[in-house]
Amino acid sequence: SSTAKAQIGVTGLAVMGSNIARNFARHGYTVALHNRSVAKTDALLADHGDEGSFVRTETIAEFIDALERPRRVLIMVKAGDATDAVINELADAMEPGDIIIDGGNSLYTDTIRREKAMAERNLHFVGAGISGGEEGALNGPSIMPGGPAKSYESLGPLLESISAKVDGTPCCTHIGPDGSGHFVKMVHNGIEYADMQLIGEAYDLMRRVLDLPAAEIGEVFAGWNTGDLESYLVEITAQVLAQVDAETGKPLVDVVVDAAGQKGTGRWTVKSALDLGIPVTGIAEAVFARALSSSTEQRVAARGLAGGTPGTAPADKATFIDDIRAALYASKVVAYAQGFDQIAAGSAEYGWDVDPGSLATIWRGGCIIRAQFLNRIREAYAENPKLPSLLLDPYFREAVESGVDSWRRVVATATTMGVPVPAFASSLSYYDGLRSDRLPAALTQGLRDYFGAHTYQRVDKPGTFHTLWSGDR
Ligand code: NAP
Repeated sequence: SSTAKAQIGVTGLAVMGSNIARNFARHGYTVALHNRSVAKTDALLADHGDEGSFVRTETIAEFIDALERPRRVLIMVKAGDATDAVINELADAMEPGDIIIDGGNSLYTDTIRREKAMAERNLHFVGAGISGGEEGALNGPSIMPGGPAKSYESLGPLLESISAKVDGTPCCTHIGPDGSGHFVKMVHNGIEYADMQLIGEAYDLMRRVLDLPAAEIGEVFAGWNTGDLESYLVEITAQVLAQVDAETGKPLVDVVVDAAGQKGTGRWTVKSALDLGIPVTGIAEAVFARALSSSTEQRVAARGLAGGTPGTAPADKATFIDDIRAALYASKVVAYAQGFDQIAAGSAEYGWDVDPGSLATIWRGGCIIRAQFLNRIREAYAENPKLPSLLLDPYFREAVESGVDSWRRVVATATTMGVPVPAFASSLSYYDGLRSDRLPAALTQGLRDYFGAHTYQRVDKPGTFHTLWSGDR
């Protein structure tokens, strides 16, 4: 081992941790390496030890000793109990002012708890959301660090240097106190679910309504990727659809089992949204659509249920493809509007003061939802930091209003032809609900007052009212 002290330590050297360690080393930092089982440390050194300056350590004591002060240790282990175990082991060996960074996909409420416990021990705890998968970890992820602002002074420059850059701006900024970084990363993943579901529905419509082969649909997505839908997910959709299975010669997408997995961050987003009372219908439909796809037994049993008399497919394919593009864009605006609403609500609930414009800025690169679109969101919040909904930003308003007829045609066609479009349809209903003068919630209030004396308010005078509703009681 070397005598030079490392500026950063990484513990947990599976795929994410090793790639981030290499990213730090490539940026000129000396990186102390640690993993529970030393085999991973040695494998990293054997394969990539020549990429920069690494310090090999076996025990936590050696690891801590290898670091300059204040020590900065990034934990990249399995979220949950493993993370708690590693935090406690590190904390026992660390000194006041040292910084522990949890870069895993931790639940924000765990981060709030951990930050509090570490603050009591005079340690800085930074819950950092990291997006971009393996590739991002190595070449520049989007990083969402929460925790004490003071720790960002020492840590920020390191994280910013390894993050993705867009127009020279790092995709990393201090998000706010304690759990804020993991919270926004969670909502980021929720938006990612919605984005992917919308893409899936657009694909399915071209497949089932227009009868286009997968490769041709891939070309449509490639075309869309040159316009206002330009994004990483649309780009890789084109690539996935172009892939041919070597064994069968079929489009690879046709030999993949149609049951979507999930690791939980989408579900967390929806649970949190329910608690905060924020209608994230796009994200929720995406989580439920994955669940439905995986309900294998029910799907097998339900095969053959009548779908009624199908409507007719639109005669003009090109026009309908353009309608789908408009519907995808409008639904995407709704999904992002809802996600940013949830972030605003979480920020208010926990006192984080998250800046939506900065968040849009650091999501422009490095992360899975990176897109041109985020530039527009950044501009929207720069124009009006108090924007009540993204849908009310003049740019997005115009974009959605000009696509609304297409949006309706797509949902109507899908409905008459029996093609499920839960995210397209619920986004349109959300939009119609939001813009409605009057909602049937008035009737709901009447019913609640009828059976439960829950009272209601009147449109014409202040106060709280209860009626003895006529009828058999
Ligand atoms: P992972 O499979 O989630 O975790 C494996 C690592 O955790 C190994 O280094 C393992 O050590 C260590 N570990 C497990 N239990 C431990 C314990 N009780 N004590 C000490 N170490 C323990 O690895 P990953 O896929 O690289 O992900 C790391 C973190 O990043 C996770 O929180 C994940 O959710 C998050 N993340 C992943 C991605 C992605 O695309 N994969 C993207 C963003 C964030 P041993 O080698 O000794 O078993």
